Amino acid sequence: MYLLKWTRTVRQISDTRLLKSQAYLNGSFVGVGNAPVTNPSTGEVIGSVPDFGADEATEAVEAAAAAFEAWAAQTPKQRSIALRHWFELVVSAKEDLAAILTSEQGKPVSEALGEIDYAASYIEYYAEEAKRISGEVIPPHRHGVRNIALRQPIGVVAAITPWNFPAAMITRKIAPALAAGCTIVLKPAPETPLTALALAELAGRAGFPAGVVNIITGDARAIGAVLTSHPKVRLVSFTGSTEVGKLLMRQASHSVKKVALELGGNAPFIVFDDADLDAAVEGAMLSKFRNMGQTCICANRFYVQASVHDAFIEKLSRRVSELQIGDGFAEGTTQGPLISEEAILKVEAHLADAVSKGASVVVGGKRHPMGGTFFEPTVISGASSDMILARQETFGPVAPVFRFENEKDAIAAANDTESGLAAYFYSSDLSRIFRVMEKLEYGMVGINAGLLSTELAPFGGIKESGNSREGSHHGILEFTELKYASIGGITA
Ligand code: ADP
Repeated sequence: MYLLKWTRTVRQISDTRLLKSQAYLNGSFVGVGNAPVTNPSTGEVIGSVPDFGADEATEAVEAAAAAFEAWAAQTPKQRSIALRHWFELVVSAKEDLAAILTSEQGKPVSEALGEIDYAASYIEYYAEEAKRISGEVIPPHRHGVRNIALRQPIGVVAAITPWNFPAAMITRKIAPALAAGCTIVLKPAPETPLTALALAELAGRAGFPAGVVNIITGDARAIGAVLTSHPKVRLVSFTGSTEVGKLLMRQASHSVKKVALELGGNAPFIVFDDADLDAAVEGAMLSKFRNMGQTCICANRFYVQASVHDAFIEKLSRRVSELQIGDGFAEGTTQGPLISEEAILKVEAHLADAVSKGASVVVGGKRHPMGGTFFEPTVISGASSDMILARQETFGPVAPVFRFENEKDAIAAANDTESGLAAYFYSSDLSRIFRVMEKLEYGMVGINAGLLSTELAPFGGIKESGNSREGSHHGILEFTELKYASIGGITA
């Protein structure tokens, strides 16, 4: 029954008023859809979006700049009400949004529904947080003065987002930006623009004034060049690869824009000998195989202490072989396709390198008979630090297991990377939990937990994984500027 319902919805994505083939600029859908969007599961073209460039990006920034003053002048409560309305529309369109998301990204529809809830949670949270941006009253430094610090919206925000979470990465930037009083131009990933445009349609219905939210599709380099150089853009917020993040940071340096980066990870997942092994295996499944391993916080390296190493591999392999590969709309699917041929080639290259350096494939290890970009969920043993997969994010369903002897070695291996986004470990020893948590050089640590994302907590990395936080009350501060005002002539 579930299957039937979703099959109908797939057919209906061409009917839903949420499916757009135009970009959303200055309050209207504009342009001609000439860049196709394909379903990675079937290869079928499911829609198209405009292939815009520098001129349209400039128009979008100017529309956002023109809308800024009035939007920033609204009371926090007025902004909060508009965000709340958007939240409610997103929740009520959840099934259509999930169908569009699965059609362009491939993840199982159950995960897509979860992502829409997660995406909506940021809108809800920042609708509330809009009312809680406060400044400070600072003690006077001499008689006759009073000092205050105000938090004001930073101005026009430019945002660039990836394809792995086509809804959540969008709301995580737009909602706090709007709550803070900023206006925004967002460029979604070319693989998954339809979810972004569907969210824009709902934002339009929620009543945000023209120019407050703009979604531009097209040539990443040309649009990126405008967004990082236009004098009216004051913050560039980017989620994506470290390489592109560094490029955008360089480009934005010419006009000294604030740059907020959420970049790649290389998450270690450590299992100590005092861990609850079954819980560690369940955490590993969630962390590694959600979204086919295509998340920046998914475990990339499993370090397992020698005495529990073989048992962990055996339990993990058993669970991995139960995963069900298939189209995201088919009943029971837990693993959809990878996003592209390029993604599957990277997975194959990492595996071939590991095997050539002595690793063994325990389960999976090859393309799935379904063809396309379907790949078998894989566990390998005998991983070592000289393998490419120890240094780079594989971004696919491969769990390499490294053996370690003691806590010190595990921490050193876990920290031996330029990345510093998420880390995970399993242990039941309270002293060890604090010791290891404090020593891991990561922005986020999951302890006896394979999932840690929530709108309530600050998400972000250190080292080459980023320089900002999204979510929580910290996330909204990225979109504000602190202004110090000293008022003289105050008489007693
Ligand atoms: P991924 O490898 O996950 O696709 P990317 O960093 O290449 O990660 O892509 C993330 C986002 O950055 C996408 O929206 C993409 O279009 C955009 N992007 C890629 N290259 C550039 C660029 N040179 N300038 C601006 N945006 C870019």
